[in-house]
Amino acid sequence: MKRRDFICGLSGLLAGFCIGNMVNIKADKQKIEYKNPRQRDISLGGFGIAISSHCNLNCKGCDVYSPLAKKEFVTYEQFCKDMEKLKELAPDREFDTVFIGGEPLLNPELVQIMYKTKELFPNAKRAILTNGTLLNKMGNNFWQAIKDTNVKFSITKYPINIDFKSIEEKAKEYDIEINYDVVKSDKIYDLKTKKILNENPDKDNGFEWSKNILDLSGSQDWIEKRFTCPHRGIVSYARGNIYYCYVHAYINAFIDYFKVKIPITKDDYIKIADAKDISEFDDFLSTPKQLCKYCKQCHNICYGDEPLEWGFSKRKITEWT
Ligand code: SF4
Repeated sequence: MKRRDFICGLSGLLAGFCIGNMVNIKADKQKIEYKNPRQRDISLGGFGIAISSHCNLNCKGCDVYSPLAKKEFVTYEQFCKDMEKLKELAPDREFDTVFIGGEPLLNPELVQIMYKTKELFPNAKRAILTNGTLLNKMGNNFWQAIKDTNVKFSITKYPINIDFKSIEEKAKEYDIEINYDVVKSDKIYDLKTKKILNENPDKDNGFEWSKNILDLSGSQDWIEKRFTCPHRGIVSYARGNIYYCYVHAYINAFIDYFKVKIPITKDDYIKIADAKDISEFDDFLSTPKQLCKYCKQCHNICYGDEPLEWGFSKRKITEWT
């Protein structure tokens, strides 16, 4: 399989969603637009939601810093307030939503949240991306909600021992299609003990594991990234705010855990509750952000480095730098 990273996989999942598809990063346009970095090129059409910031798997180098995150959920109450406000500001827009994590199935209000998105934005697209570890414990109300709310169902298949057969049977019962994204690995690990169980019989398939690299010196060209970063359009909703990309939304966990000096200012997000007009979001998303100074934008394999062996996080800073 062609080399790529998890977030590129997420971009694939989002294909056709209004989350990342309005970014213009064409090389010839770059030169022209570079003169006007405030020219609007993204409209808020949807967002990824870290429905639970933490995760029960904790992969090393997790793109959204889940091994470092405190236990934190998007609550149904806050979600309703924010989505109703967006609906009030833009009654004619439908916002696509992708439920990600951490691990989204940890959120006890996930089912109500899914129904709320359908109620408010009936024609929008919805998707969920799970690590699959909790699927065999989910009640019928979960499967029914996936079906009722037309959520595209994707599992990242990590090299761990999960009974996928029973998951597939359950999905079949509800006529739900499962999309798999497989992580390439030589070994299969035991979820409970975290020890190697056996060699992976399917070791040649899947996408290579890699890490997104932060630049703690803050010396990246943040204006240029407004034109060149393919992840910039992966708009994210967290803590009642809209962020430019997933790094901006979740880097707080990295900053707090390692106590590094990466400033997050009011220019780095827009609070939905404070917005007066939907154009504020479009302008915000079309403007370069100083937080990009701290991000190399691409995973290590984009720079010609070898892929990494997938594994459990030891919460070392080198997993992200
Ligand atoms: S923080 Fe990184 S991934 Fe996000 S838009 Fe900036 S350069 Fe791209």
